[in-house]
Amino acid sequence: MPSPDIPRTVVIGAGPAGLTAAYQLAERNAPVVVFESDDVVGGISRTVERDGWRFDIGGHRFFTKVPQVEALWHAILPDEDFLLRPRTSRIYYQGKLYDYPLRAVNALRNLGVGQAALAVGSYLWARVRPPKDQTNYEAWLVARFGWRLYRTFFKTYTEKLWGIPVSEMPADWAAQRVKNLSLSAAIINAVMPKRNQKEIASLIEEFRYPKYGPGMMWEAAARRVEKMGGTVTMNSSVTAIHLEGGRATAVTVTSRSGEEYRVPADHVISSMPLSTLLKSMDPPPSADVLAAADDLRYRDYLTVALIVPKEFSFPDNWIYIHDLGVKVGRIQNYGSWSPYLVKEGRTCLGLEFFVFEGDEMWTKSDTDLIAQGTAELEVLGLVRPGAVETGYVVRVPKAYPTYDQYYRRNVEIMREWLAVHAPNVHPVGRNGMHRYNNADHSMLTAMLTVENILDQTGHDVWTVNVEEEYHEEKSNNDSAGAVAGSGRRGTGRDAPVIPRKAG
Ligand SMILES: Cc1cc2nc3c(=O)[nH]c(=O)nc-3n(C[C@H](O)[C@H](O)[C@H](O)COP(=O)(O)OP(=O)(O)OC[C@H]3O[C@@H](n4cnc5c(N)ncnc54)[C@H](O)[C@@H]3O)c2cc1C
Repeated sequence: MPSPDIPRTVVIGAGPAGLTAAYQLAERNAPVVVFESDDVVGGISRTVERDGWRFDIGGHRFFTKVPQVEALWHAILPDEDFLLRPRTSRIYYQGKLYDYPLRAVNALRNLGVGQAALAVGSYLWARVRPPKDQTNYEAWLVARFGWRLYRTFFKTYTEKLWGIPVSEMPADWAAQRVKNLSLSAAIINAVMPKRNQKEIASLIEEFRYPKYGPGMMWEAAARRVEKMGGTVTMNSSVTAIHLEGGRATAVTVTSRSGEEYRVPADHVISSMPLSTLLKSMDPPPSADVLAAADDLRYRDYLTVALIVPKEFSFPDNWIYIHDLGVKVGRIQNYGSWSPYLVKEGRTCLGLEFFVFEGDEMWTKSDTDLIAQGTAELEVLGLVRPGAVETGYVVRVPKAYPTYDQYYRRNVEIMREWLAVHAPNVHPVGRNGMHRYNNADHSMLTAMLTVENILDQTGHDVWTVNVEEEYHEEKSNNDSAGAVAGSGRRGTGRDAPVIPRKAG
């Protein structure tokens, strides 16, 4: 029985951050209620289930250097459900598959003698005549690889992912992530024995994965929260946070059927998008704070999952699609993530499209998107015409919080306002903090917040996932293709600053 002195916490969202917070509060006997707008838990890390097929939004590798996160994953899921899976991914370009990370010998062999010679010539030319202004990412890459290799291995995927020309992206982000990168360094890396081979292999070539997809972790977490005395209420959005005397005192919950009720709170842990959180304050913040909330931007995402006979399966977890002629950015093979996601004799290929909510792709009907996905798979030669049996579409708004030149200031304005007017409202997670956090860092922000609430520890949660050394060297994830060819994986925990015109 929780003691009446222990604060009562309302958690907004049952994704990794919200459920981690709820788990840790419930484990310590603190009263906690979670509200989730959706009808499934897991947020962006959920498992989508359609007609018995299970798939993932992207592919969620469970990979972390944070020991308390690793420990929590293992506390939630038994080893037999938490598979250790090999990682393979390649780049598809003009009918050929290139190892990713790039290996010079494989790349040059795939290009063929003629193209390889042209690529080397273009590289040498760029060395002799490097672009004068290397402040944009394109010129920076061309100076290190030459135009031909830049076009083959960098340009298209990066542009598909972020939706702007590489020539408009600033170089400093890349320069920081892939310092000392060049073709000669890549060749040396490819032929020299690798240092710490075993450690790198264990971190990069394998990862953990729940056998029924990432949502399995969060479904188990939600059950444990309820078993420990917390509640997780689905189909229920927090639509207002009520402030009184310089603190949040209650939230309004609106159920899918339209019913509204008020729930008292000593603390509110929020993983809803930071902008929506500020806009839900009652009374509302001043106009400049609301303007900062309105000014945050996102990149959105949709996946077209196509069921095909197993003969069209491939060993990769995913393939980056660098061809210009198709819009698909990456293709996941869910059968390679876990055999439990697919059915006998078939696999499910997830075609990932990076989009903006409301754009031409986003607003297409599911039927048209499935037809487009099928046509693109056929054009790429990855399936035989007529082989796709059926398909499903999942749209994910706000998949990537965008870093533009204004986001830092906007977030700062909102943080300062919260610190003064609602110090017991705690933003956590990815969109919750407008941070390009992976699940592990989303979870860590929740863990530290719980300690702040129960132990008054005073952790600065905003310092989580601010550049750490290991990111550069040892970690990797979903945006890795943006630095394809580095031979060192990007962390995906950071992102380029996307320039935006004022106004
Ligand atoms: C394509 C892609 C690939 C990725 N790959 C990886 C990977 O390989 N490894 C990895 O660790 N991470 C990966 N990530 C990141 C990972 O998905 C996120 O870090 C993680 O899901 C964030 O957890 P969260 O709880 O902060 O937010 P979310 O997952 O967004 O969950 C927030 C929850 O809050 C709910 N909610 C929102 N508003 C309200 C409201 N008003 N009331 C009630 N509920 C509300 C939402 O419905 C949602 O369920 C990937 C992300 C993407 C987009």
